[in-house]
Amino acid sequence: MRALNLLREGEGALKGSPDAKWDAREALLHVMDIAPTALGRHLEDEIGPASAQQYRALIERRAAGEPLQYVLGRAWFMGLEILTDARALIPRQDTELLCEEALRWARERGISRALDLCTGSGALAVALAKLGGLKMAAADISREALALAQENARRQGLDVAFYEGDLFTALPAGERFPMIVCNPPYLTDEDMRALQREVACEPALALWGGPDGLQFYRRLEREAGEALEPGGCLMMEIGSGQGEQVRAIFSGWRTRVLQDLNGLDRLVIAEVTTTQGE
Ligand code: GLN
Repeated sequence: MRALNLLREGEGALKGSPDAKWDAREALLHVMDIAPTALGRHLEDEIGPASAQQYRALIERRAAGEPLQYVLGRAWFMGLEILTDARALIPRQDTELLCEEALRWARERGISRALDLCTGSGALAVALAKLGGLKMAAADISREALALAQENARRQGLDVAFYEGDLFTALPAGERFPMIVCNPPYLTDEDMRALQREVACEPALALWGGPDGLQFYRRLEREAGEALEPGGCLMMEIGSGQGEQVRAIFSGWRTRVLQDLNGLDRLVIAEVTTTQGE
């Protein structure tokens, strides 16, 4: 079968889904193992039955509502290829803001190590290690997610220290960091009831932040001081409506709220103040 015909067939099967053309094309590129720019030259190629079957299987999964990144098994984060599947949240472009700010913070202060809490697929830990040369530790409560994160670190040739456990309990006692990044679950009960079909395929454990979405920020506020070096900072992704609420939770800290490219609150940087914990 010609590649072009297969592509049309895929588009047809995905008709009605918002990114039908894009998704059909991405699936074809994946099966043909070619770069997007090469597709034009290969549309007349003959696709063998095994590859055609593989393509149809991908399209079928996408048509059933699975996110494209799970179907293809990878996503892009900060220009890095990250393996993705149902064990962890798909890395979001929104989270690149957290990554960029952490890279900047580390560079400006000469910080050489950091902790990624709730690492999930490991995207943040991998990007900070790869792009910032930081020595990373990463923790998650989900053993399955950690296995995926480990695979991602290994693929990039990185040595990340992984810890399994509930927030800071995962870490060896007394371990402190100059910087902690965290993209915790922050969706509310209400958000969880209205999940997009694709997002509903992601682990609820990685999405639900308690009834009001803020439970992890309360815990982070109580527990992070013990794991931060003096003058250390905690950078957290937040939901778009949560800037003021999270700031209020961190009232004893020096805080800043940053907006994403859409102008929505997306990041809180909280610094330990010298009087804290005394
Ligand atoms: N940004 C994700 C979403 O809106 C939620 C991720 C999270 O809870 N950390 O689906």
